[in-house]
Amino acid sequence: MTVPPPWAMLAELTHACPLHCPYCSNPVELVGRARELDTAGWTRVMAEAGALGIVHAHLSGGEPLLRRDLDLIVAAAEAAGIYTQLVTSGVGLDRARLAELAGAGLRSVQLSVQDATAETSDHLAGARSFAAKRRAAALVREAGLPFGLNVVLHRHNLDSLDEIIALAVEWGADRVELANTQFYGWALRNRAALLPTRDQLRRAERTLDAWRARLPGTPELVWVVPDYFEGVPKPCMGGWGAVSLTVAPDGSVLPCPGAYTLPGLTFPNVRERGLRWIWEESGAFHAYRGTAWMGGPCSGCPRREDDFGGCRCQAYAITGDAARTDPACALSPDHHLIRRLTDDTPPDDRTPLVYRRPRRGRA
Ligand code: SF4
Ligand code: SF4
Repeated sequence: MTVPPPWAMLAELTHACPLHCPYCSNPVELVGRARELDTAGWTRVMAEAGALGIVHAHLSGGEPLLRRDLDLIVAAAEAAGIYTQLVTSGVGLDRARLAELAGAGLRSVQLSVQDATAETSDHLAGARSFAAKRRAAALVREAGLPFGLNVVLHRHNLDSLDEIIALAVEWGADRVELANTQFYGWALRNRAALLPTRDQLRRAERTLDAWRARLPGTPELVWVVPDYFEGVPKPCMGGWGAVSLTVAPDGSVLPCPGAYTLPGLTFPNVRERGLRWIWEESGAFHAYRGTAWMGGPCSGCPRREDDFGGCRCQAYAITGDAARTDPACALSPDHHLIRRLTDDTPPDDRTPLVYRRPRRGRA
């Protein structure tokens, strides 16, 4: 079988991060700095990715600015014909660093913010960072790079959506990704504290509609669907091993960043295998590729080529079997497990947020 090439890569350059977001989807066990791929390793990954057909790389983490060789990695991607986007908390970005990265070929920046005010954003980040984010936004605008803002939404900030979008307009974002929390990695630990109520989501969607009617198209407002509440699964990663791959900080290669939790799969590493072999030949990338692996009800469903049966990591996290239909789908025989979580969310829940490390510097 010929495997079409991927076009996107998530390059997780480090798991180290100055923030401690309770909704972080990175693994509970992080890759330590001593196990990270070095500059030569990432340079080779970029060359192999370009040769494989990848045209877009998200340089992510953790906080990729913690890599002192980030400009060299950007330059390697540029030399391989790959468009790079920096995905950053903004902490550590100054004018000189941004100029260095832009000079190396960086094409766009996606900045995260946790809420609309310094106090609430810093509280959710578990570290003082809002002022750095505001400065970073101004620098990206000044540099003329395309500028996206990412806000992970949950019970603690959905009611501030109006102010969050106003902030994005004030900061001059071209695009705002309003990403309802995906419950993987550390975020799964905090699910009870992060799950919103249906009322909160309804109000937020009304706010979103009002902004969309008011704005002339910029910033573009992208709403990442809260799949727990919609009865419709997300087409996770555009399909397993279909359009995108993730390279973890230690060089492991996964079909999606959450897949490390799945049992029975051995994820290959770029230290031992070329990216082309990994994409085309490895068992891990073939495990849920296409539709042949599906059981009922997906195997007979007309939507199977559209949503690929939803998310394998979510199926495993909730049912213990990665090959089952994503329970977010209303047609799944396990959908009641999701309904139990969403329908029982109390409106005055006080479940505390659990931070990865004790919080420092609350504003
Ligand atoms: S979600 Fe927060 S803690 Fe996790 S990598 Fe992003 S900025 Fe760091
Ligand atoms: S049954 Fe499977 S293919 Fe059909 S909508 Fe649900 S997840 Fe998608």
